Amino acid sequence: MSEITIALTKGRILKETLPLLAAVGISPSEDIASSRKLLFDTNREDVRLLVLRGVDVPTYVQFGAADLGISGKDTLLEHGGDGLYEPLDLGIARCKLMTAGLKGRPAKTGRIRVATKYVNVARRFYAEKSQQADFIKLYGAMELAPVLALADEIVDVVDTGNTLKANGLEPRETIVGNISSRVIVNKAAMKTKYRKIKPLIRQLGKIVAERGA
Ligand code: AMP
Repeated sequence: MSEITIALTKGRILKETLPLLAAVGISPSEDIASSRKLLFDTNREDVRLLVLRGVDVPTYVQFGAADLGISGKDTLLEHGGDGLYEPLDLGIARCKLMTAGLKGRPAKTGRIRVATKYVNVARRFYAEKSQQADFIKLYGAMELAPVLALADEIVDVVDTGNTLKANGLEPRETIVGNISSRVIVNKAAMKTKYRKIKPLIRQLGKIVAERGA
């Protein structure tokens, strides 16, 4: 029986996570990319992996369905972090959380409409700068919203900025500049499975430090 369940985030974070796990001696027993399965055994009898949509990873870990997770800081800020420790920054999948709007169009004054999947983060950001705003929750293709006049601005993660540019948008303000993927741990599991979890975090930390050097 697996003692440690690790929830991984599908997509670009997964691609960068698998080499880190391999470096600490954990490899899925079949190719995750070519499988439709969501739950994978590994070469270690005591470790199994879940592959989830990013937004679900903190929830699985919060409620103990997974002991550990790898999650983008953007997703963690939106989730709020209840029931989680965040012991390690893996330094992968780096990007920024930003506002963006139509290129060359001055930011609208007065009440604005903001499309985002980060409604909680966005609400805090606009409230802090005393900008009145209404929020429209979207799950993808945020860049379309200003183009089709669904919203005045979007809040999204930006890496190269190419996607914004390709859709006639420009970045405006940085909300969080240092988004990257973090290891998260269920608070209860950190106590009950400390002897398994602690060495894993220490090993991952060592790999990350070596890579950063
Ligand atoms: P960009 O390189 O700015 O064109 O980003 C490409 C797309 O991937 C955009 O839709 C971003 O929202 C998204 N993206 C960029 N970086 C990340 C990341 N680290 N994690 C998740 N999504 C990202």
